[in-house]
Amino acid sequence: MLLAQFADFMVLLLLASAVVAGFLGELQDIAAIVAIVLLNATLGFLQEYRAERALAALRALAAPQARVRRGSEARQVPSAALVPGDIVALEAGNVVPADLRLIETAGLRVDEAALTGESQPVDKSPVPLPDAELPLGDRHNMAYKGTVVTYGRGIGVVVATGMATELGRVAGLLRVDQPVRTPLQRRLAQLGQRLSIVVLALCALIFAVGLVAGEQLGRMLLTAVSLAVAALPEALPAVVTISLALGARQMARRHALIRRLAAVETLGSVTHICADKTGTLTLNDMRVEALYADERLITGELPAAEDREPWSSLFAALALSNDACWPATGRPEGDPTEVALLVAAARAGREKGALEALLPRIGELPFSPERGKMTTLHQRDGEVVAFTKGAPEGVLAGCVNRLTQSGSAPLERGTILAVANQLARRGYRVLAVSCRRLAGESAQLSAAAVEADQSFLGLVGLQDPPRPEAKAAVAACQSAGIRVIMITGDHPATARAIAETLGIIEPADAVMTGPELAGLPPDEFERRVRDVRVYARVAPEQKIRIVKALQDRGEAVAMTGDGVNDAPALQLADIGVAMGARGADVAREAADMVLLDDDFSTIVGAVREGRRIYDNLRKFVKYALTSGVGELWPLLLAPFLGLPAPLLPIHILWINLVTDGLPGLTLVAEPAEVGIMDRPPRKPRESFFGGGLWQHVLWVGILMGSVTLATVALGDKGEATHWQSMAFTVLALSQIGHALAVRSDRESFFSRGLWSNPSLLGAVGLTLALQLGTLYLPVANAILRTEPLTAKELAVSLALSSAVFVAVEVEKLVKRRVQRSRACQPRQS
Ligand code: ADP
Ligand code: MG
Repeated sequence: MLLAQFADFMVLLLLASAVVAGFLGELQDIAAIVAIVLLNATLGFLQEYRAERALAALRALAAPQARVRRGSEARQVPSAALVPGDIVALEAGNVVPADLRLIETAGLRVDEAALTGESQPVDKSPVPLPDAELPLGDRHNMAYKGTVVTYGRGIGVVVATGMATELGRVAGLLRVDQPVRTPLQRRLAQLGQRLSIVVLALCALIFAVGLVAGEQLGRMLLTAVSLAVAALPEALPAVVTISLALGARQMARRHALIRRLAAVETLGSVTHICADKTGTLTLNDMRVEALYADERLITGELPAAEDREPWSSLFAALALSNDACWPATGRPEGDPTEVALLVAAARAGREKGALEALLPRIGELPFSPERGKMTTLHQRDGEVVAFTKGAPEGVLAGCVNRLTQSGSAPLERGTILAVANQLARRGYRVLAVSCRRLAGESAQLSAAAVEADQSFLGLVGLQDPPRPEAKAAVAACQSAGIRVIMITGDHPATARAIAETLGIIEPADAVMTGPELAGLPPDEFERRVRDVRVYARVAPEQKIRIVKALQDRGEAVAMTGDGVNDAPALQLADIGVAMGARGADVAREAADMVLLDDDFSTIVGAVREGRRIYDNLRKFVKYALTSGVGELWPLLLAPFLGLPAPLLPIHILWINLVTDGLPGLTLVAEPAEVGIMDRPPRKPRESFFGGGLWQHVLWVGILMGSVTLATVALGDKGEATHWQSMAFTVLALSQIGHALAVRSDRESFFSRGLWSNPSLLGAVGLTLALQLGTLYLPVANAILRTEPLTAKELAVSLALSSAVFVAVEVEKLVKRRVQRSRACQPRQS
């Protein structure tokens, strides 16, 4: 990294011209130039090293985890810490962390496209293979690292890790991937190339004109090359990386883990946030608070224990058709919905452990959001019982009667659905439960057949309170011009109740359901997508349609997701957001950002941070480019005005290193603009250099250069004897003044206060001290060929250089006036 700092063409050219200049009699310059080049390289190295470290820390945080059983204890370990012999648990959504020999499976299906190219998931089972020599795709009792569990669950023994895995073998054949550049980095690199041509042409011109005007060849060569080094904005892409990486580190501290650096800059342009209801907008802290069975609805205080049907079967079903587990010591673990059901059953005297001893599970049809239900099969004295639970519409569709104390009774679906609706309108998440007796024939029955011909047992209503911070976060989005869209697999009435509580929709607004969405032709949906803010009973695949429709309208979409099937939508979204605490590995790997606390308001915080970082990068680029113009302008113009070259090469290099470098870098630490979340998002396709950036660079740069030239003109003819040191000082101080003024886009320097960015304060203080040092330290006088200014000359320099600061402050004042008068006018459309 350190050596790479010197591999830059312009730096090499600079060193070469220093040597040439040395031969031509500018010997004392060589040492100074070499010293500056070294310092510059060190600074660049330190920055890059810091960025690299920040990125490495982020990568470590995002490292995949595996669930293992070690010493009869279940725990999470980083996948990299697995060893052969470890017992690993797999569930839908996991990326298989090592090569495993499966020893237990339940409906396990794995997508092995990464290894075999076959995109259909394959069924897995622990049964021994019929043949010792089978192709990888046929080894049904193995799960390979890097493949994805799409359905069911399983347990396997690690047989190979790292490069010894099948994936490792393939990876060994591949090249190490190149670091990906963010769009902004690419754009700035492109800009750099174009600017290089302009800058090099100008430098060549300055060189030629200088020679004609009678300057020495060696000095002009050095001047031209130093100027090229100083004015070329080569550090831009590196600074972008640094500030994005540091921004990402900030965000990680606030529970938003950035997986792709580009996300930091995209975040600021987000116009829509599509968020899951359960867990993101709500706490996912489920509690059973309503039960309906035997034509009785009970809310609030639930019955302690009932030993008659259908209550006893209902509670048994809640405990048994359940993948949560409750260790003898400790708290129940698993999906919050299922944990709540387990707790409710236990309170009614039905412990899962005790029940399972009587009715061992012999089969299951795992839950998937598409089906909206799950079924387990249990052995009971020679017969088999199936328990099904899930969304009421789906479960009831499979019921033919209902269970009562005295056997079965006719089923009134309408009545039951009305109760379910009534509960949903009050914000309950409602599940229906049913059962079926199978006389030993279960092995022959298909999945669909098992879930048909069932007897209805009851309804369960779960409360899941909205997150306390979510309401304020939704309001913050609204004033920031960002639309919040709720997407859920839950019932439309439940979704509406929660959305209204959070202020996402008004009672008059519509809720669109998945089936409705499926029935709309694409262009019709694209027309309506603008008005829909709540989607219910949506299948994960439909999220893709929502993202696409919004993107086709030119919106920038952030989309959350936690399931296996969410991965494609997360990939497609401008910002894919996955969940850290719950949710699938695949979703995390497809995402740009992972929420460590699953909280909606964290996304909003990240958007705010993204806007700040983008603003600050613009300030930095503004500052750096303006400084370049300010350095080129006087040297370009001086010969035409019959003035001597205002600056020596060493002065230019010094300014590039000290005044350009130090305060500029601290601009990225600026706090957010006032009202940063009260303005609409920037347009996704808006140019980085739009909004007056170019104009600012040109006019301020030219002003800066002209003031410097004026100093030369005044000093050259007037009484001042130290005109060159004065010009040097004026340019340096002008840049410091610019740094102070450019800190905010609109706000005045005086209302923003100096203390809000201590690092800038430090950099400005240091730069000032160093600049004074160049004037008043004898050593510096010798190296930089400066002379101490008199008090009067220093005062004149200060006065002249304040012009830039004052001018930029006036620019901001005008901007504020314009903005205020616009705000007073009535808005159109
Ligand atoms: P959400 O968007 O709220 O996370 P899901 O897709 O997880 O919705 O669930 C959709 C529906 O499936 C729920 O409304 C509920 O009826 C049902 N459901 C959710 N979890 C389970 C489960 N563990 N077992 C059975 N049914 C479930
Ligand atoms: Mg869910």
